[in-house]
Parts: sequence; C-alpha cells; structure tokens
Amino acid sequence: MAGKKVVVIGGGFGGAAAAIKARASLDAEHIVTLVDRNRKTFLCGMNPLLIVGQREVERSSRSLGVLANRGINFLQAEVSSIDYAGKTVDTSGGTLEYDYLVIAAGAEYDWDHVPGSAEAYSFYNIDTARRLRRRLSRIKKGRIAIGVASVPYKCPPAPYEAAMYMDWWFRERGIRADIEIEVATPEPGPVPVAGPDAMSLIRRALDRKGIELKTEAPVTEVAADGRAVQYGNGDSSDVDVAVTIPHHVVAGLVRGVSNTGLIGEGGWVKVDPKTLETNEAGVYAIGDVNAVPMANGRGVPKAGVFASAEGETVGQNIAAAINGTEAMDFPGEGYCFLGFNPNVTALVTGRFMAEGKPDVRLTSPSARGARKKERFERDWKRFRV
Ligand SMILES: Cc1cc2nc3c(=O)[nH]c(=O)nc-3n(C[C@H](O)[C@H](O)[C@H](O)COP(=O)(O)OP(=O)(O)OC[C@H]3O[C@@H](n4cnc5c(N)ncnc54)[C@H](O)[C@@H]3O)c2cc1C
Repeated sequence: MAGKKVVVIGGGFGGAAAAIKARASLDAEHIVTLVDRNRKTFLCGMNPLLIVGQREVERSSRSLGVLANRGINFLQAEVSSIDYAGKTVDTSGGTLEYDYLVIAAGAEYDWDHVPGSAEAYSFYNIDTARRLRRRLSRIKKGRIAIGVASVPYKCPPAPYEAAMYMDWWFRERGIRADIEIEVATPEPGPVPVAGPDAMSLIRRALDRKGIELKTEAPVTEVAADGRAVQYGNGDSSDVDVAVTIPHHVVAGLVRGVSNTGLIGEGGWVKVDPKTLETNEAGVYAIGDVNAVPMANGRGVPKAGVFASAEGETVGQNIAAAINGTEAMDFPGEGYCFLGFNPNVTALVTGRFMAEGKPDVRLTSPSARGARKKERFERDWKRFRV
C-alpha cells in the first residue's frame, strides 16, 4: 500500500492527541504532519490559578517540537487556506498534500463584540492572564466584575472558579472585607450543563463566599476608563477591575469562503457526532472548532478533555481506515474542573452524549479533586492528554 499523508492543523489539546494516536497506530510508511503557528502552547486551564499567583507560566506550557521524538513531523507555520478538491493545505512553510485532514484550529476571541472588552482585563489567554495577575497583586480594595459575553465559551466553570480563587487569595492577604466580587453570566445559572442540583450547589458556594451572582446578564459594554460594566439585562456596576470572558468565534482559517459548506448554524464546524467527520470526505474537525450536538441540542462544552478525546477518536479512526480495521465512536464522556479554592476542587463529570439528555453531575469539592487537577497538568505536559 502506498504511504498515506495525514495532516493535522493545530497543536492544542485536540490536534496533538489526534496526531499522537494516528502516529502510534500507523506503520512508518505513512506520514503524520502537525502544523501550528506556535511551537509553544499553554494550558489555559491553569490561568485561574495563575491570576492568583499560584502558577508560573513555565509549569503550564509545552513545546510541540518534542513530538518529533514520536515520529510526527512538526511544522511551525501559519495555515492560510485549504483546497478540499485538490486535497492540499497552504501554509507559510509551503503546500502540504493530504489524504486525511484534521482541523483542530480551536476558537478565537472577538474582543470587539463587547465595546471596551479589548482594553479591559481577562484571563482567557496567557497574555491577558499575566496582565490580570499583575493588577490583582496590587489591589487593596474595590470592586471586581467578571462578565461573560456570550455562550458558548471555553470551560463553562472557569468564571466561577476564577471568582472563588480571587475570594481565597484576598482572604489569604487579609483584604477580602475591602473587596467586592461579582460574576455575571448570560445563562440562567452557573454551569447549566451540570444540571439543577449542581447549579444550586455552585450558587450556594458563591453566596457563602460573598460573591454576587448575576444571571441572564451578558456583559455588553465596558466603559472606556474600565470603571463601569453594562449588562444585557439593563443592570450595570461601577467597578475597579472589569474582567471579561470574550465572545468566542470559530478559528479564522475556517471562516474563509472556501469553508462555507463546513459551518453549521451556530457558526461552528458541523460534524457527524460519532465520527467527527465534516461534510468533506476524509476531513475531520475536532475540539473547540466544532459543535458536537448533545441530546438537548446544545454543543458538548468547549473543553480540552473533549478536544483530546475527539482527537483520540479521529486519530484512531484515520488509522483504522488506512489499516482496514474497525472504527470507534466518540464516547462523549469527560469532565471539567471547578476549583473552590486552590486546594479543593469539584468535577463537572458524566456522559455528555447520553441519549435523551446529558447525564452530567457535579462531584463534591475535595482535596482529591485538586490532586486530580494537578495530575492532569502533569499528564498534559507529557502529552498524555
Ligand atoms: C481560562 C480557561 C480555563 C480552562 N479550563 C479548562 C479545564 O479546566 N479543563 C479543560 O478540559 N479545558 C479547559 N479550558 C478549555 C481548553 O483550553 C480548550 O477547550 C482547548 O484548548 C481546546 O483545544 P483545541 O485543540 O480545540 O484548540 P486549541 O487548544 O485552542 O488549539 C488550537 C491550535 O490551533 C492553532 N491554529 C489556529 N489557527 C491556525 C492557523 N491558521 N495556522 C496555524 N495554526 C493555527 C493555534 O495556534 C492553537 O495552538 C480552559 C480554557 C480557558 C481559556
């Protein structure tokens, strides 16, 4: 059999898992190439810890260059377009031919969607997280608002985790009484995917910690001086630190005209929920770039654990197609962490693709959960997730 070419665009959770799984299941005559504009990637799941001084950037980063040790060609380049008919990918490092293509280019942020958000604080990428950390390290009193612009956004528990970590940090520093924290969401409550019991448990935890929760209140504007936030329900707050979770959009590469057939109603890549294949034969889309519909019509949460599991499914299935072995379905099981403080963590966990409705629950917050989160970070560093 002539050697096949597998190209993976994006070396985040999903792309790395797909490339590793495909490579491990294929003979050496087949070539697996991973393209990313960046050599170094960051574990954003640790940003809520980073902003309260409990993580250093180096501990939460990894280099895609080491994938060469596993027989994967890593190309650091910008992908500009995909020719589905000709089966080629144009990159700043040359044109790549493919037999199988995995699009794992993730979500991007539209900072202009909420006026003032670009100048406000955030923790949704490494640069904004570092800037917020500097600001929080200096604060002594005032009001902090954490506002979510829209759904879907990455890691549904992250805004609540960030608020609870701030609460913990200000208590440690003895300044909590002088600082007010509010968190605002467009949704009817915190992390609705986890079900009503979880929503009320998180509500109670926020309440106990003195964190104000605003629901059905997407952040719609941050004042030019960063001193006020406006919400979609008409509410507004005067603040000292405005933190936004930006509006998410599909990766720019996929917004191009040649991809129009790929995009579904919500603006994300449409895929077969079992195989994660797109409308184009031999082209798969995994992770934040896609919308995998759950039984309730909503998409599987945008989280690294799902991107990684989708990558494994697709890597395995591409190898199965080449090797003539049996394919697997995306299992749709996974979890997201919700730290109540750096030492106590709960998990939003379950069968997200269960029939009827997602079968998801929130575990009790525990030290064991916090250890699991630390283990996850170590595994991520070693490309085990
Ligand atoms: C604050 C925060 C907390 C989070 N907490 C958790 C958590 O606790 N648990 C969890 O599971 N998930 C968490 N997540 C979500 C998780 O980080 C994402 O869901 C995950 O990174 C998605 O993986 P991905 O592979 O789809 O995309 P990404 O990780 O975004 O990777 C996409 C890659 O594609 C590359 N790329 C894009 N376009 C191009 C192009 N044109 N050319 C070349 N390269 C390109 C990018 O450089 C990038 O490396 C969190 C996210 C944030 C922001």
